[in-house]
Amino acid sequence: MTKTFTTTFFCDGAMMAREDNLKFNSLNQTHIEHLQAMVASDRFSAGESVLDLHARDQSSHPPHRPEAVIWPIFPSEVAEILKYANANLIPITGWGSGSSLEGNPIPLKGGLVLDFNQMNRILEIRDEDFQADVEPGVVFQDLNEKLKHTGLFFPPDPGARATLGGMIANNASGTRTIYYGSTKDYVLKLSVALANGEIIEMGTRASKTSSGYDLIRLFVGSEGTLGIVVGATVRLAGLPAEFSAAIANFPSIEKAGKAVFEIMRGGLNPAALELLGPECVELMNREASLGLDVMPTIFMEFHGATTRQLAEILEMAEEICREQGCRSFKPGLGRSERDRIFQARHDLGEMITRNHADSRIKVMDVAVPITAYSEVIDAINQEIAGTNLATYYISHAGNGNVHLNILCKKGDRKQWVLIEEIVDRLVAKTLELGGTATGEHGIGLGKRKFMVAEHGSSLKWMQQIKSVFDPNGILNPGKIFPS
Ligand SMILES: Cc1cc2nc3c(=O)[nH]c(=O)nc-3n(C[C@H](O)[C@H](O)[C@H](O)COP(=O)(O)OP(=O)(O)OC[C@H]3O[C@@H](n4cnc5c(N)ncnc54)[C@H](O)[C@@H]3O)c2cc1C
Repeated sequence: MTKTFTTTFFCDGAMMAREDNLKFNSLNQTHIEHLQAMVASDRFSAGESVLDLHARDQSSHPPHRPEAVIWPIFPSEVAEILKYANANLIPITGWGSGSSLEGNPIPLKGGLVLDFNQMNRILEIRDEDFQADVEPGVVFQDLNEKLKHTGLFFPPDPGARATLGGMIANNASGTRTIYYGSTKDYVLKLSVALANGEIIEMGTRASKTSSGYDLIRLFVGSEGTLGIVVGATVRLAGLPAEFSAAIANFPSIEKAGKAVFEIMRGGLNPAALELLGPECVELMNREASLGLDVMPTIFMEFHGATTRQLAEILEMAEEICREQGCRSFKPGLGRSERDRIFQARHDLGEMITRNHADSRIKVMDVAVPITAYSEVIDAINQEIAGTNLATYYISHAGNGNVHLNILCKKGDRKQWVLIEEIVDRLVAKTLELGGTATGEHGIGLGKRKFMVAEHGSSLKWMQQIKSVFDPNGILNPGKIFPS
């Protein structure tokens, strides 16, 4: 059986329609027998529960099952599967931990999911070069555990148990991105299997290069639509010699937002600057017994060489917060208290889901230049005021990255439409302010409709690049480009 779908997009203000009549084949018995012969029998499954497990990520996007799942363990297997899938027009979607929040790994067109769970070896750690060679299924927390004794770590930290392959594909970041950067800043070499079955190596082990086009940056963040990551050399960072952390409470999100802006403008260079609404603090108190004041709260952390230097920075941060009307400023958190708070911060997304089992949750993720941060807060307040929507305000504030988790009673279609309209208007506002429709979760399914507004005529060139690497469109079809 052959399925078809159409891609349409608009560029340069004029409407340009591009019909991509991509045709895919459903898996038939011959395909299945062929694919099964490529891997050990226990690494191929078309079982109902396996298909269900690979039909949804952690977002609210509707699930869609693949037709089979393969767990590769060698790059050569991936290449062989891709070559066969390309020749037979079978969609291929990469799968790490399925922790995405925009439907990125949902196999929208069926076909095969390649789950990298078993291709998870840390191949080599070269601590003196600050580098590690990894397979795509390595979970970043496991890499950091392994690195403990070296005094090094892999800084991008999306909170969830994510794989390096999934993080590279989504260009993941997290609480300490403001200081350390995101995944794209940590990939030195990349090994990718292309749709035609060729494996290409990109990059160098040198810490800098100006040689040729930067293909690594092209693949990082491409959400598995250009090729499948089968290996990477990642850069590592030294664990900070000293750190200091503080909590500041404010009478309103607006005041806290101003303090964020002033801390950034003051050049205090925080390692983390997280802003949470009171509803988040209340939930974290309940779930993790933190005993914090239930108010808009900033968690901040600074890394440096000496405690004296850090004490001076904290003093300046306190002064800035006080000027913005902060109600209390608690400096000098010890390591265990800092860890407990950041663990709760990491767990917040899961806490929200767990505590609202009767709700469908829309997670908005936008980012703006820091000068526009207060305006985004105002826009959110205006949109939510007058509705009876329950929201959680969560922000990697130092990066101007705002998340708003909005709850909708399951089955309440009218409320869901209202929420989608609100999010659409907020994203449009973000773009107007010079920001982006997604700070870290990627385009996946949910943000495709903003691609034209954000990228204009360059979207056409993205489409051309996609056609070069994946002319048959078998790689994660239905993602990134608007339909
Ligand atoms: C509670 C919670 C908090 C989160 N917080 C953050 C956050 O702070 N910052 C952030 O950036 N993200 C966050 N996320 C989102 C998510 O964790 C990240 O996007 C993460 O990078 C996804 O990794 P994964 O291994 O789960 O990949 P998956 O979700 O399985 O896949 C992600 C994408 O990568 C593709 N893919 C997977 N493996 C490969 C491969 N080998 N080659 C090519 N493509 C591949 C998939 O097809 C998909 O498009 C959060 C998620 C949750 C549930």
